[in-house]
Amino acid sequence: MKKKDLDTLKKILEEEKKRIFHHLQEISETSVADLETPSGDSVDLASLEINQNSLAKIGKREQNHLKKIDAALKKMDDGTFGECESCGEQIAFARLMARPVAQLCIDCKTEQENEERKYSDRAGDSDNEGFPEEGEEL
Ligand SMILES: [Zn+2]
Repeated sequence: MKKKDLDTLKKILEEEKKRIFHHLQEISETSVADLETPSGDSVDLASLEINQNSLAKIGKREQNHLKKIDAALKKMDDGTFGECESCGEQIAFARLMARPVAQLCIDCKTEQENEERKYSDRAGDSDNEGFPEEGEEL
């Protein structure tokens, strides 16, 4: 993946993370962290950790999403971001733009969804525009 594309996706992930942090601050008595320095520079969100007590206050959905964001950011550091976890192919950039935390390429994802449809009829816990969560623990 081109570095420029990677940077774009990283920004999106960091914005997502920031949004969750802001929500956390809204519902939490304690300030989680100053997200911006006075000079306007963003803190290193990728390495920012939320303590578990605060984390318990946000919904499971956001916690899961945050985990995925962290996992994606870690992959960026490792240089494995954008690789399908099933077949190892590069995930299409357009798909990553729509869903930067995607772990599977569209082919594997489609296959997984077909399998899930065959073996289960989970309903009600999908939070991604109607897509079932990838690798979500029930
Ligand atoms: Zn794949």
